[in-house]
Amino acid sequence: MLASTVNYEQQEELTRKCPYCAEIIKKEATICRYCKKDLPPINVDREKTLKEANTFMASLSDSDKEKFEKYIQMTQAERRKDCFACRGEGASCAMCEATEAKLSSYIEAKNVLTAYTDK
Ligand SMILES: [Zn+2]
Ligand SMILES: [Zn+2]
Repeated sequence: MLASTVNYEQQEELTRKCPYCAEIIKKEATICRYCKKDLPPINVDREKTLKEANTFMASLSDSDKEKFEKYIQMTQAERRKDCFACRGEGASCAMCEATEAKLSSYIEAKNVLTAYTDK
């Protein structure tokens, strides 16, 4: 039989190491097929979402985070006035739109981290 055509990257996503015997097993396995021990289940989606949220947070500087914390408390109109590109004058400034998009990613990432850590 031919070996699986799944490439290495996909393989990485689908497998994990058994914490007991260190054999490579399927990520969603609940019993290790080598040592037969029960394994803590891994929610793949949850892991992926968490990883994305952490990556996003890591991409932000401390001053970015400070800024977004401030922006969460403000209305969209107030945030637009804070925009150094249009000072709230423009009807739809690209900078304002980028800020709003990044702010919602920030809020989303924060929610994910709050919901998924220490549980
Ligand atoms: Zn094992
Ligand atoms: Zn603007």
